[in-house]
Amino acid sequence: MDLGLRDRVALVTAASKGLGRASAEALAAEGAKVVICARGADALEEAAAGIRAAGGEVTAVPVDVTQPEAPASLVRTAVDTYGRLDVVVANAGGPPPGRALDLTDEAIEAAVQANLLTSVRLVRESVPHFRERGWGRICLITSVTVRQPARDLAASNTARTGLWAWAKTAANDLFDEGITVNLACPGIHDTDRVRQLGHAAGRMGDPADFGKAVAFLCSEPARFVSGIAMGVDGASVTGLL
Ligand code: NAP
Repeated sequence: MDLGLRDRVALVTAASKGLGRASAEALAAEGAKVVICARGADALEEAAAGIRAAGGEVTAVPVDVTQPEAPASLVRTAVDTYGRLDVVVANAGGPPPGRALDLTDEAIEAAVQANLLTSVRLVRESVPHFRERGWGRICLITSVTVRQPARDLAASNTARTGLWAWAKTAANDLFDEGITVNLACPGIHDTDRVRQLGHAAGRMGDPADFGKAVAFLCSEPARFVSGIAMGVDGASVTGLL
């Protein structure tokens, strides 16, 4: 299947490891030019070298995407470097664990900043460039917890469901302009975060497969797929919706 991504330009944030990196790799493998970021420069350079070694084109920017000015600066880098922007995959590190009644105001604010506002800012900065060509793909990496909240991840549950509601609204606003907005919702995948949370157990998803699911959501043939929260979760959600 041709995903129609050759020579498109994609910004993938928080992409030196794990699911963000796998998403950038999948988009680059389809011929997209990618801009990636993360805070740690060494792992970021290693990720960029891997994409280049596989024949991809990549620009790596060491930056904390949750800083308020970072989204605008990353979008500017993509457009200055490659002349356009077609795809944004918004990702950031997940909030620390915590039960609902143990959360401080600061913990909730930090999660909203990283996992809701940062994505909104990335979309806001990207959309004017999508509008120039009447084509755009927005994929927000969230979590299976938008459907099935995890008891020990209350801050994450709170911020991500807010983002889901915002994205669903934005999807309706943007669809007639050729711009889609979707969530990619991972269940347990084999990444550093999962090992740090002590959630690694049983059959885990392969980040490379998740990346390919993201690439599909960002593809040409996915043009009628918008406003969905696509689970990539190995049937771990037990509810019907
Ligand atoms: P990971 O393996 O820990 O990788 C996180 C990546 O994001 C790293 O490249 C990290 O690099 C970068 N990053 C983190 N905070 C950043 C920031 N503020 N600015 C820029 N880059 C940042 O995590 P993951 O498992 O891929 O998870 C990605 C997202 O999916 C998280 O929000 C996580 O909660 C969510 N999720 C994951 C799973 C899973 O099973 N893996 C399941 C559900 C949801 P630096 O640290 O160097 O910045």
